[in-house]
Amino acid sequence: MTVILETTAACRRTPLVLFLLEELATPFEVVVRDEGYFTTHHHALGPLVRDGDDVVIELDAVLRFLARRFGAGTLMPADPTGCAAVDRFMEVQSSLRGAAVRLVREGSASTDALALVRRSLEALEAALAGRDYLLGELTVADIPAVMLAQLARVGVDLSATPRVEAWAARVAARPAWARVAARLRLPAAEAGPSSLERACREWTERLGAAHVIRAPEALAHAGRTTLPAAARPVAILRPTARAEVAEIVRIAARHRVPLHPISAGCNWGWGDACPAGEGQVVLDLGGLTSIEIDEDLGVAVIEPGVTQGALARHLEATGSAWRLDCAGSGPRASLVGNALERGLTFGTYGERFEAVSGLEVVLADGSVVRTGAGAYGASRAGRARRGAVGPSLDGLFSQSSLGVVTELGLWLTPRPAHEEMVWLTCEDEALPALIDALRPLRLRGVLPTNVHLFQLPPRSPGGSPTWAGNGAICGSAAAVAAHVAEVEAAVAALARFTLSSRTPPGPALCDALLLPDMPGLELLIDTSDRLVRGEALEMPPAALLAALGGPEVQRPTTPPTSSDPRDAGYGLVFSWQAVPAVGDDVRRLVALARERLAAHGCPPLMAVQFSTGRAATLVTRIVYDRKVEGRCAAALACQRALHDDALAEGFPPARMNLVGHDALATRGAAYWALVERLRHALDPDGILSPGRHTPGGAR
Ligand SMILES: Cc1cc2nc3c(=O)[nH]c(=O)nc-3n(C[C@H](O)[C@H](O)[C@H](O)COP(=O)(O)OP(=O)(O)OC[C@H]3O[C@@H](n4cnc5c(N)ncnc54)[C@H](O)[C@@H]3O)c2cc1C
Repeated sequence: MTVILETTAACRRTPLVLFLLEELATPFEVVVRDEGYFTTHHHALGPLVRDGDDVVIELDAVLRFLARRFGAGTLMPADPTGCAAVDRFMEVQSSLRGAAVRLVREGSASTDALALVRRSLEALEAALAGRDYLLGELTVADIPAVMLAQLARVGVDLSATPRVEAWAARVAARPAWARVAARLRLPAAEAGPSSLERACREWTERLGAAHVIRAPEALAHAGRTTLPAAARPVAILRPTARAEVAEIVRIAARHRVPLHPISAGCNWGWGDACPAGEGQVVLDLGGLTSIEIDEDLGVAVIEPGVTQGALARHLEATGSAWRLDCAGSGPRASLVGNALERGLTFGTYGERFEAVSGLEVVLADGSVVRTGAGAYGASRAGRARRGAVGPSLDGLFSQSSLGVVTELGLWLTPRPAHEEMVWLTCEDEALPALIDALRPLRLRGVLPTNVHLFQLPPRSPGGSPTWAGNGAICGSAAAVAAHVAEVEAAVAALARFTLSSRTPPGPALCDALLLPDMPGLELLIDTSDRLVRGEALEMPPAALLAALGGPEVQRPTTPPTSSDPRDAGYGLVFSWQAVPAVGDDVRRLVALARERLAAHGCPPLMAVQFSTGRAATLVTRIVYDRKVEGRCAAALACQRALHDDALAEGFPPARMNLVGHDALATRGAAYWALVERLRHALDPDGILSPGRHTPGGAR
């Protein structure tokens, strides 16, 4: 009789049942049910098996039932002592899986879950002394071992338990598992190590050995993160020509090895250069650095490796009439990565993706497509106009991991004839009214740039926080003078106001604005002023330390010398919430963020970015000292609470990091179901950044 296995498309437990059925060589059929079927009809998670009239549900029960019925004396020992040993090891692995799920949700600093994982691994390590399998020969108790490779996703390194590591590899190398991997089209990380070796051989032939990096130190360096934990890549590929990218992706697709593309890898606070899951290869596009400027149209056509610094220098050196709209991430951050993440800028566009026109994209099967008018070979029209006939596809490739972008058109900003930098400070209670006063000025173009308002500590202990912010007024001399007067009048009753032409950034500006005493503040003010002017400058290390909570929070062992937060080992988790540019909405969201930060012992570091006239973004920096026990867990819990509670209040996140976003899948179920259908259509084998830009994390 044929066994019927009922499952759902997303069920992560089913591969283990398939593996056992393959080992048992028992004929079976698979019936795929809708998501939610098991909870609705069986009050359980599934999968379920039917053998004649017998119906069994839940993973461990199913495994033991099948082993008893079809593998008595082999995969299920005949004697009670052997059966008891099987039961014990299945239970150990079941609690290990439960703890791992908690680690995915709460982060690797969830200390009791981490302790449980370690205890379970040590129990297995002890049992494996002198044995290839837990009971000597393969039994059903060894089946779950194929899942252990995924522990690296939550920062658990199996090398501390070498017998477990070897055992997991041995079980994953069994032909029965290879058949399951082929059937489910699992990525190589889950399918086994040999696919990676074969892919690396082909990449080496194509790119040369120097461009396929596997040295452990280089991989460890690439895996540094400001988040509490992130996966380390298993290899890094560094193409030097655009044509190589499609070939690289085709090789990855052939061997089902997942690739994680980065442009400069400065995604600090969001996942850095790290992939979302274990077993992924970083595709580092930093070597593709072509820049072409269309001076008539004010468009830069750039490859992914072009950094903010490189484009700003290029525009300066060529005497261009155009300048760059800068993000605060400094000269070494990329423009393509920032655009695809829909990053925020300090200049006129405010949101980087608003300036994108036309992409060249390599899809997961290695085919190459151009969006917009570029699809018809009309590249100049494509730079000038975002779409031609047909659906607009540019956005499909932002925050999606649905393709590798190899070229992008970026609109620039005209260098203004005249420009004034506006500086404002207000008391906490005046913030909502200030937002309402600034909105019409921003919408009417009186204030043409992002206005970046950041919260500062109270001037005296026990006082209320203050807000400081800046933006620019540009145009002809007469227009600038008129707009300065208009802004000054509009905010007069709410905020202190000055211009950096009246009071240059430095101690005088801090005094004029009555800013509190805070180490590094003058440098922060100066940096912010120059960013609005389009200078892609490196944030001075002291300003970075101030922005990330100061020495009391980050406690660097030596004075920081770099503006890359990973160099000093800083802890940073960003959380961005979209909020209408309406005073009362901003007030509610700021209050919620403050409350969640305080509840988790995190300093109140936040900024309101008036990125467009209608929309603002609350940028919260959750900072923590990673060397202090419990702070990683607190940062993750804070991120989750802020994320979930703001979403419930109607303020959805504007960007995703590698930390949990499960609540999105519930609230935006129809939207994410469509995204998943698109993903399945474009990348059925999970080749491009599996787990990134999906609410549920690694697939
Ligand atoms: C002090 C400080 C200030 C910051 N200021 C800002 C700011 O003002 N605005 C802002 O937006 N962010 C800011 N950040 C966050 C972050 O550093 C920037 O967003 C930065 O630009 C991202 O790094 P990157 O451009 O090198 O992108 P990358 O790290 O290269 O890429 C980011 C992500 O985009 C995807 N990706 C990259 N390239 C490709 C490609 N070619 N094809 C497909 N997918 C790709 C990948 O998922 C990748 O993880 C700041 C961070 C810090 C610490």
